[in-house]
Amino acid sequence: MKRTKSAEAFELAKRLIPGGVNSPVRAFKSVGGDPFFVRKGSGARIWDADGNEYVDFVCSWGPLILGHAHPVVVEAVTRVVSDGMTFGIPTERETELAGALCDAIPSMKKVRLCSSGTEAAMSGIRAARGFTRRDLVVKFDGCYHGHSDGLLAKAGSGVATLGLPDSAGVPASFTSCTIVLPYNDAGALAACFDAHGSKIAAVILEPVAGNMGVVLPERKFLESCRELTRSHGALLIFDEVITGFRICYGGVQKILGIEPDITVLGKIVGGGMPLAAYGGREDVMNMIAPVGPVYQAGTLSGNPAAVAAGIATLSELKRPGFYEKIETRGRRFFEGLVAAAKAAGVEACGNSIGSMGTLFFRGGEVKCWDDVKKSDTSAYARFFRKMLERGFYFAPSQFEAAFVSAAHTDADVDTTLRAAEESFATD
Ligand SMILES: *Cc1c(COP(=O)(O)O)cnc(C)c1O
Repeated sequence: MKRTKSAEAFELAKRLIPGGVNSPVRAFKSVGGDPFFVRKGSGARIWDADGNEYVDFVCSWGPLILGHAHPVVVEAVTRVVSDGMTFGIPTERETELAGALCDAIPSMKKVRLCSSGTEAAMSGIRAARGFTRRDLVVKFDGCYHGHSDGLLAKAGSGVATLGLPDSAGVPASFTSCTIVLPYNDAGALAACFDAHGSKIAAVILEPVAGNMGVVLPERKFLESCRELTRSHGALLIFDEVITGFRICYGGVQKILGIEPDITVLGKIVGGGMPLAAYGGREDVMNMIAPVGPVYQAGTLSGNPAAVAAGIATLSELKRPGFYEKIETRGRRFFEGLVAAAKAAGVEACGNSIGSMGTLFFRGGEVKCWDDVKKSDTSAYARFFRKMLERGFYFAPSQFEAAFVSAAHTDADVDTTLRAAEESFATD
């Protein structure tokens, strides 16, 4: 595969943009080689600057559950932008999207729209602190909640990929109110509440983790999160930026049977546009200005084009059988990947739920960041490069999820699995 145009574009970009990328995960640092530059996407496929075609299992890191340039979403956005791109004045569609979100997620009585998952998670925590009048926040090792100062402590995603413990530029005092515990460890959480219970404002977690690769929650762990927060007067925040509308219509909380006090959304709800949201209990959300004293704002919050993309996307997701179909395809895909690896004698295991999953290059089981990081990242890098050469784009890091969209066909799954078999056979 020739990538000379991408290579030239990357050289140019590096002169002006740190690392040539506007988000670190886009660099191929942990898998070797340079990123390709994309020109176009349609359905399950993308094309790079040199015209190479790839089946895309990154899907912009999660938002594109309908695939690239879905005609209904494109039409909705096109129609709206010709009437003005931003006003900074309320529009009726914002209430329509808010209604759709609250209908889909019953624990969410009120919701505030903003522009990125980072903002939404940061603001949800601010609301929790304002409401409880407490400072401490508990997060879990390997969970990622965006790049706000206080949450860059043992975060997943790019922070994990680059092997950074935290981030430079964040004063220690900013993360001194963040307690980091191991995921799926109910005992550690109970001990933490024993020690600091009266000072904890909130526990925030990805109810299914997606930013250290996919890690599923254990029942007892989730129940402890709910019971301990409730009994100590703290709030439970589910960061559903990835899982919201990914596993079912609404939050994965519906399937898990646990209701948080605050839910954070992003990615899919913006249909590929910059939109995110946080919402929850009415008494908590009434803390937000202008009703209450917790300040949070945004020039482009509730942007008309982004809201239109979100509404159009949700209307497609609501079609009967939508989730059953991608779940079936996702299961076949992720089980197929693990089977292909094992058949070739490659040490591997997989975690998946619905249309999101991760193939880990290690044996045994993966339940927390300590398990995840024992994966053979150089084996993943070889797999990544071989698949890319064959026209299949996976995340350029072991510590990320792969996504199947509604645009991926059974034939796409078959050809990808065949390519994976070849890749493992030549490893
Ligand atoms: C992507 C992500 C975020 C951050 O969202 P941005 O839109 O990238 O700021 C926060 N939490 C989770 C769980 C995410 O996956």
